Amino acid sequence: MQPHNLSASWLHQPAMLSAEQKQQSRRHCGFGCIFCGCPVYQYFQLEGQTELLAICPLHQRQLQKNLLSPSTLEQRAQHPINLDRQHLPGFKFDPDRRIQLSVGMNTLYADLPDAGGEHPLIWVNGQVFFCLHADRHWLSFSFVLSDAQGQPLVQVVQGELQHCPAGWEFSYEVMTLKIRDSQKRLVLTAQLCNDRVLVTKGLFLDPHKDGFAVEGNRVIAMLDGQKGGEYMQRLEPGRYQGGWALFNKVRYPELVMPGSFAFICATKRKSL
Ligand SMILES: [Zn+2]
Repeated sequence: MQPHNLSASWLHQPAMLSAEQKQQSRRHCGFGCIFCGCPVYQYFQLEGQTELLAICPLHQRQLQKNLLSPSTLEQRAQHPINLDRQHLPGFKFDPDRRIQLSVGMNTLYADLPDAGGEHPLIWVNGQVFFCLHADRHWLSFSFVLSDAQGQPLVQVVQGELQHCPAGWEFSYEVMTLKIRDSQKRLVLTAQLCNDRVLVTKGLFLDPHKDGFAVEGNRVIAMLDGQKGGEYMQRLEPGRYQGGWALFNKVRYPELVMPGSFAFICATKRKSL
């Protein structure tokens, strides 16, 4: 996405940031927008200050329209809302509790490593479409949303919105991230918080139209753009690793499924 300035010249989007700078900013901001806690954001800098501030697309727009005062910005820059534990759970997870991961009705529980690491949730032919990252007991998220042709539309990498069509809208209310396209149609619904990740709307297709369509409780596996089957299943307790994976063996005979996946949703074999 193109760097741009917000509301006034005293807040700008730095062109080049290192991975370390971004990590430092995520920690400073509580892994979310400083105003609303939204786990999808971009990094901005106040003039004369080194601290990077995570700001979601909704609050970027409010700043552009001068709907937020400079004093509110200053205050939240010092006290990001996700670090205000009275108002929001934020993304700090309890290492002694498992995190519930649901895609449609399918649920499993994950242990995330204390120090760091990642947990792929949706995997298609070697590409991770939805992933949790842990950093000092805090969560961040990466995901790719596609159109029906399997072209990537939205790309989020560890919370940072890197690609998105113009005019799309983001909101984060009641711990639920919603993304709407320019015609206000829902593209993603996901409850994202410190102990729960529930995806109930989203299209995750690779360029060959293999992947998953999530519609409420339904998880529809797609192979070559055709519906491969529906999956509505609760995993038994005791499965603490894994996610939802789709593997098209006709197209990718050499590909190896990652070992951590306990639940393989759909496989297309040569005999089919
Ligand atoms: Zn926000």
